[in-house]
Amino acid sequence: MSGLGWEWLDEESGGPGHKQLVADSGTFSVVRQAYAALLEHGAGCETCRKGDCDTADALYGAWRDLGGPWKK
Ligand SMILES: [Zn+2]
Repeated sequence: MSGLGWEWLDEESGGPGHKQLVADSGTFSVVRQAYAALLEHGAGCETCRKGDCDTADALYGAWRDLGGPWKK
């Protein structure tokens, strides 16, 4: 996909069954991938279960830098 379009957001992206305008779906996909990587890491990481995890912090930082939870 490219250009302007609509994309469904699931719960992971901030709201169930929620539609919002996506100005740049390429960038949006990158943000989604960064978040997916964070979730995937957290699901299988022992360090995350114990508490602080540098890898999770790095993944979260990358996601946030891309727009993260505030991306519109
Ligand atoms: Zn971790």
